[in-house]
Amino acid sequence: MSTPFSPSISPSISPSMTPRPLILHLDIDAFFASVEQLRNPRLAGQPVAVGSGVIASCSYEAREHGLKAGMPLGQALRKCPPLVIVRGHESIYRCYATRMFEICHNWSPLVEEHLDEAYCDLTGTERIYPDPAKEIARLRAQIHSTTGLTVTAGLGRNRMFARLIGKFHKPDGLGYLEPEQEEALLLRLPVENLPGVGPRTVEILANLGIEKVEQLRELSRSALAGLLGRNGEALYERCRGEDHRPLGGREIPRSIQRGTSFDEDVSCPRTLDAMIEYLAERAARNLRQRGLEAGGISLQIAHSDHRRDRRRIVLSPPTALDPSIIRTALALRRSMEGRRTAIRFVGIQLDRIRLAATFQQGDLFATDLDTPQTDPQTNQRWKRILEQVDQIRMRHGHGALLRGSALALQCGDNSDAEKRGRVGLERDRHGLILRTSCLTR
Ligand SMILES: [Mg+2]
Repeated sequence: MSTPFSPSISPSISPSMTPRPLILHLDIDAFFASVEQLRNPRLAGQPVAVGSGVIASCSYEAREHGLKAGMPLGQALRKCPPLVIVRGHESIYRCYATRMFEICHNWSPLVEEHLDEAYCDLTGTERIYPDPAKEIARLRAQIHSTTGLTVTAGLGRNRMFARLIGKFHKPDGLGYLEPEQEEALLLRLPVENLPGVGPRTVEILANLGIEKVEQLRELSRSALAGLLGRNGEALYERCRGEDHRPLGGREIPRSIQRGTSFDEDVSCPRTLDAMIEYLAERAARNLRQRGLEAGGISLQIAHSDHRRDRRRIVLSPPTALDPSIIRTALALRRSMEGRRTAIRFVGIQLDRIRLAATFQQGDLFATDLDTPQTDPQTNQRWKRILEQVDQIRMRHGHGALLRGSALALQCGDNSDAEKRGRVGLERDRHGLILRTSCLTR
C-alpha cells in the first residue's frame, strides 16, 4: 500500500483523553515468514517465503523484490532467485499467535482474535491508561520480548480506522488516526481497502468505473444494496467512515477449509479416501479447539484435466465429531465417482459454523447421508475420546496420533515407493505437511 497520508503517533503525543470509542488493532508483521526466521536463525535477514504452490506469507526482505502473498512460487523464484521457500507449519504459528492473544487479554477487557491479528477495545480505559501511546509501546515491547515477533499497531475511533491506519505504519509501527484526519484518509483510498471488499466486489465496482472511496460515495444506499445486497448496505456506511461492528470475544469464522494438492496426480481411491479422512480430521479438530460445530460440509476435487467437482451437503444436526464429518465427506466422494481421471487436488470445507451446543438433540427425520451419527450415546462417547485425543495432540503435535489410513500417506515409512512418490507428503511431529497448506481461514 502506498502512503498517501501518514498521520502518526509519537511516544510523547497521546490521543486526546475525552471518553469515546477507541479501538486498537494489532497485526503481526510477515507472520509465517517471521516465525520461520525465528525458528531458523540462518533465515534471518534472508528473503523467505512460506507456502506451497503459492506464497502464503513472505518476509520483508522478499517483499523488497516485489514478492507478495498469492504469487506463484515459480514466478517468485524468477523475481528473487535467492528466495528460501519453507513449507508451512500451521500449528507452530498458532502457538505464537496464542501467546500474543494471551498478552492482549491481560491488557484489554475485550479482545477479538483473528489468525495473526487482534482487536482490543480501549473504550473507557482512560483512567487506567491515561497515555495510550506509552501503554501500546509497552504492550508491543512485551509481545516482542515474549514471542520475538514485531507487531504493527493502529489506533482509531472504530475497527475500520484502527486497521486502516496500521497499514500505513508497517512493519513494526504505531499509527493513530485523529477523527478530524479520517475524512482526508478515507476519500483518496482505493475501494479495496474498505473492509468487506473482496476481488469480486472490486470487479463489480470497477465495471461501473468506481475505484476510489470518493466515487463510491456517489452511489445511494439503495443502489449499493441493489448491486451488492447486504454487503452493499454495509459498504454505504463504511465509505462514510461508519463501522458499527462490535468486537466479539470469540471469532466465528464463516468456514474452515483444509485442502492439499498432490505432487503427482492420484488415481488410487484408497489413497484419496485416506487424504479425505486426514483433512476432515484436521478441520474437525480446528472446530473443537474453538468450541464450534459445523452445519454443512463440502468436498472439492480437482482432476488432472483441470475439471473441478464440488459437492455440498447439510450436516444435521451440526457436529464437530470426526466420525460424522469423515463419513459424510467419504459419502460425498462416492457420490462424485464416475470420472476416470486422476486427482490433482482435494479439499474439504466446513461451513454454517456456530458455537457448539452443549446438548445435542438427535434428528428424527434424518436420512443416512444427512446424519451419519445420530445416536446421542455414541456421540457422547466420541466426544470424550476426542477430548483426550485433542489433548495429546495439543501437547505432542497432530502427528502424535494418526488414523491407520493416514499412515499410507506418509513419506519415509515403509509404504511402497510408488505410493510415496505419488502422494509425496512429509511428516513432522505436527502431522503431515500439506502441499497446499491452508494457513488462512
Ligand atoms: Mg500480519
